[in-house]
Amino acid sequence: MLVCAECGRRLSLTLAKGQYLYFYCLGQKGVARTGCAQPYVLAADAGRLVEKLYRKIQLPETWVERLTGELEEEIVVRQADASERRVVLAKKVSKLADERQKLLRAYYANAIPLELLKEDQDRITAAESTAKAEFADLEGDLTGRQEVLTMAIRLAGNCHEAYRKARPPVRRRLNDVVLRAVYILDGNVHRPEFTEIFEPLFARPSSSKRLKVEVAGFEPASFNLGSGASPGAAGDLDLGSAARAGALRLTQPG
Ligand SMILES: [Zn+2]
Repeated sequence: MLVCAECGRRLSLTLAKGQYLYFYCLGQKGVARTGCAQPYVLAADAGRLVEKLYRKIQLPETWVERLTGELEEEIVVRQADASERRVVLAKKVSKLADERQKLLRAYYANAIPLELLKEDQDRITAAESTAKAEFADLEGDLTGRQEVLTMAIRLAGNCHEAYRKARPPVRRRLNDVVLRAVYILDGNVHRPEFTEIFEPLFARPSSSKRLKVEVAGFEPASFNLGSGASPGAAGDLDLGSAARAGALRLTQPG
């Protein structure tokens, strides 16, 4: 997760003389050397840097409340859209079934040739599977996704506390969930890179910009908090099924 800001290679953990645990830039060893001259970073110092980073990026409580409210509003709108769309799709599917019936009747009445029957049947079948696939998408569990996003927002509002209190394995999982990479330069954090779900939360250019909830796929692996996790107590951080975050994300309007 730690990356050298000078040469872009990963930092690797090593134990020197059986007692000093430190990170060094992989660009300094082996055949793929980059000529990088970055100093090593003691593991304990790296932990402090990450803690400081969480303190800096943690969202103020007022933002957490506002974002949670915005998310709820968005979900309500999405649910209304989805039910409307379901009605439209149901009509479409039943219309296609009618068409199929008419087509068969026309064929048996010798009104159309076999070729045309086949062509039209293929068209109807394709249209049906498109509609059915969209239907299945709409059945996606919006409420479950809302829970995941609500949890992400809460975690964004207390990540420093959570990290500080957590034991090392939980800290690592917290880092995995939030941080894609932390670029280190001269023993300091140069810049962080966040996972897809936390990117818009932590990298907002100004507090006045609204976050948007968008129904679209993002890499589920980028957000691994399972349901029921309580970011308030990092010890309970449960990194279970990732799939639920599936098709909802927060985005920053451009
Ligand atoms: Zn380097």
